[in-house]
Amino acid sequence: RAKEYGRGLHQFFRAEMNERSLERVQLLNHLRRAMPQRELSLHLQPQVRLSDRTVLGAEALLRWNSAALGPVGPDRFIPLAEETGLIEPIGDWVLAQCCELLQDWQAQGHSRLRLAANLSGRQFRNAELVLRLARELERCGVPGSALEVEVTESVLLEREGRTREMLFALKDLGVSLAIDDFGTGYSSLSYLRRFPVDVLKVDRSFIHDLGQGADHDALVRAIAGMAHALKLTVVAEGVETAEQAAFLTALGCEVGQGWLFGRPVAPAEFKQRYLTPAGGSL
Ligand code: C2E
Ligand code: MG
Ligand code: MG
Ligand code: MG
Repeated sequence: RAKEYGRGLHQFFRAEMNERSLERVQLLNHLRRAMPQRELSLHLQPQVRLSDRTVLGAEALLRWNSAALGPVGPDRFIPLAEETGLIEPIGDWVLAQCCELLQDWQAQGHSRLRLAANLSGRQFRNAELVLRLARELERCGVPGSALEVEVTESVLLEREGRTREMLFALKDLGVSLAIDDFGTGYSSLSYLRRFPVDVLKVDRSFIHDLGQGADHDALVRAIAGMAHALKLTVVAEGVETAEQAAFLTALGCEVGQGWLFGRPVAPAEFKQRYLTPAGGSL
């Protein structure tokens, strides 16, 4: 009986696996066509100065509205795009779009606003990345200082030498570097000295737990303290409540991002909401 049970289980897992890999193949087939069919877009989520809620800029977040599948979340398609290398052309497109958005904002007199773009580790395998970005910036007449790139700790430590060189080259363009999801990696903090880091984005899991006990608060306090000692800017992601914002402000955390200030929205809506001639303050 045990044997029979085992066989049943095995078959069950096989069916399950097949279903999953089938789903993966289908997703990938659609994803390959997403760019040429213009199904990808960027949404922008405001980043605000916590002390006075001035809008400083936005993070650009990829959206895929598939004709066949409907909206597919980045947590589903980005890992697949990374595994297959599709993230390289998609990532180039994201950077080019960001340059165009910045150009448009500048033309409207909002030249101090910044855009942050997420970069995958895979994009650092291609040395052309920096050159192509430099060309896009030039084409749009946008200074590199208007752009920030976000990478996770794990990206820095993969192929460290190469990645480091490329990040210094980005730095030469004036682009700033943010560590995304800070605090969720398990790496030694010494990389903060080896890389030209400007910003720590405290992972939203830490922000979520604020006010739930002294231990949680102490963690965020410690991260902010360390960041400031290293002259890094602290961005809190996933700020959802006024209490969280007040706590973060009291800690001297400079920038906030999250549903409290605004969800990610299409660029046209972002402009309408936040880039009023009077200057965007929430
Ligand atoms: P991330 O870079 O850490 O982006 C922050 C995520 O938190 C976004 O999810 C955003 O919508 C969500 N978020 C913002 N505020 C709040 C809040 O107050 N509460 C909660 N619960 N969530 C909030 P999203 O847009 O689903 O993106 C997920 C991840 O996909 C991103 O995490 C990033 O790692 C990746 N991603 C998005 N766009 C790109 C891209 O252009 N290139 C690459 N390589 N990765 C991207
Ligand atoms: Mg990010
Ligand atoms: Mg993040
Ligand atoms: Mg993330």
